[in-house]
This record gives sequence, C-alpha cells and structure tokens, in this order.
Amino acid sequence: MALDETLNVARSNEARPLVEVRGLRRSFDLSKPWLNRLIERSGRVSLTAVDGVDFSIREGETYALVGESGSGKSTIARMVVGLLPPSAGSVEIDGTDVWGKKSPDQERRMRRKIQMIFQDPFASLNPRWRVGAIIAEPIKAFGLIADASDRAERVGELLSLVGLDPRDGQKFPHEFSGGQRQRIAIARALASDPKFIVCDEPTSALDVSVQAQVLNLLRDLQQRLGLTYLFISHNLAVVRHVATRVGVLYLGRLVEEAPAAELFAAPQHPYTKMLLEAVPDIDMEGKERLAIAGEIPNPVTPPPGCHFHPRCPARLSGCDRDIPMPQHVGNATVRCHLFDPR
Ligand code: SF4
Repeated sequence: MALDETLNVARSNEARPLVEVRGLRRSFDLSKPWLNRLIERSGRVSLTAVDGVDFSIREGETYALVGESGSGKSTIARMVVGLLPPSAGSVEIDGTDVWGKKSPDQERRMRRKIQMIFQDPFASLNPRWRVGAIIAEPIKAFGLIADASDRAERVGELLSLVGLDPRDGQKFPHEFSGGQRQRIAIARALASDPKFIVCDEPTSALDVSVQAQVLNLLRDLQQRLGLTYLFISHNLAVVRHVATRVGVLYLGRLVEEAPAAELFAAPQHPYTKMLLEAVPDIDMEGKERLAIAGEIPNPVTPPPGCHFHPRCPARLSGCDRDIPMPQHVGNATVRCHLFDPR
C-alpha cells in the first residue's frame, strides 16, 4: 500500500463516525387485498428486504455495500438518505436521527448535509431544464445564495469542479454524453455543500471507458472537499477502486464487513470468497475464474438458518437451522458458523 494511502486509512480510522446505522430492518407487505385472501384462503405475504443491518461510516471514508441484485443494498441507501422509512432500527447522520422527530429547521439542516447520486444520470436530471437551473435548484431550495448573479457564478464553479465548462450551464441534459450527465448530477449533489453522499451504482449505466473517469472524479472530490461516501455497487472491481471499508450483503443481512484491503486480500465468509472468485482481475490472468454458484433465493421465502446455506460449499450440519451471529475475526466482522466459538 502506498504511503499516502496508508496515511488516509490511518486518518479515517481516527475519525469519528459520521453515519451510524443500527438494527435497520425493512419489510414490504406483498399481500393480496383482504377479499382475495378470504376467497383464496391465503395468508399475508411479506418480504424482508433488509434484516437487522448495523454499520458505521467515519468521516472521510468510503463505505461500500456490495451484493447481488435483491440483496437489499438500494433499500438501505433509500432508508439512509430519508427516502424510505425503516420498519425498525435507526440511522444517525452527524448526530441527527434521520427518522426522528425534528423541527422544520433541523430537518432542513440535515437534508442539506445528505445528497444522493443515482445510477441513471438521464432519469435523475429534469430534461426540460437547462443544466444551470438544475444545479442552481438546491442552492435556491436551501436559501444558500440569494443574489441571481452570485448563484450563476457558483453554478459555473461547480461545473468547473466536475470537469465541465461553465458555459455548459446554458445547455440541456440531452446535449451531453452519459459520463458528462453523471458529472452534472455530481455537480448538482455538491450544490448544497453536503458532508455525506450516497452513490447508488453511479457508474453501472456508463460505458466501461468512462467509468474510471467518474470514479476518479469522485475520489478527487472526496479529498478536496472532505466528503464521506456510502457507495452501493454489485461490482467488486469498482468497489476495490474506491472503498475504504466494505460490507457484503446477502438477502438483507450483512455477512462480512472489513477494511477494503483486508477483504480483498483475505476474504473470510464463503459468500465473499465466491464473489471474489468471480471478479475479472488482471492478476488472475491464466487462472480459471469460477462463476457464482446457484441463484439468490426468493426473498419472500428465504432459506432458514443461514440464508446462504443452499449455495455454501462449506456448509455445516446446523447451518440450515441456526442464524449465525456476527463474530470478530481480526479486523473483520463475519456472520458464519465457521467462526462461531461455540
Ligand atoms: Fe456456509 Fe454455514 Fe457459514 Fe452459512 S453459516 S456461510 S452455510 S458455513
């Protein structure tokens, strides 16, 4: 690890948690209407998308949540930013409970600190607005700059910050490429001067050639502005590029959490090992790459005990009955009976 990377990790280890997620849970009621259930003699159906997730993110850190689709990562992102209420648990950002009772002023101050960058930059930008108006909107909404010419100047600064021309503010979103549109979305997210940004698959909709540019931009901005990121991705190669810590999700449960360098060097949980074996990697040239075995089960009827047991090559006799509890293994936290001292 390079010296500046080591210093960054050491600094982020000293920093206090900016984000604290405790016992986060979210279920969705998928039941048919009452009359249908009565006629069909069927019961209620519920899906637990997130099942008791805990993690914290220190200031200046990039915490990545990874997992296959259906693992609950985007549901967690939406609960963390305040778009979807949890069924249980709490989210605290900079000491403020996101879902707690607050005065309108406290709510405004908290909203200003949190922003989100979405997967599809075209869908997240209003196609009828000029780019300048899109970026100025949070500045107006939070009453940050009253004077119109000062606001226009700030929009120009933000466009330059993300590598675009200040004159691009006169154009419409459809006049830009996918990568440039994601830059505009980033400029808009920065307009309220946030501390914490949730990046939900920010490069998945982009060509491979521009993915690295956008990831490098996010990393530069983090260093220049002291930002903290929650980075949601199904792509471990992308996560390796940006993350300080990584949480691996499987069917709504966090199965392994560790500093990124350690997780990639020595994964502990059988599922993490399986995910890593499937990652395209330049170091693995010539080696056989294993596909992820089996499919993620239906979350409406998850397997009992350890949810991963039907796909696990290291399964033990009680794995289909007992839910594994988090165990500390070095700097990692792992939910697997292989590490249970009992
Ligand atoms: Fe495999 Fe059992 Fe560990 Fe689950 S708890 S990952 S089934 S060994």
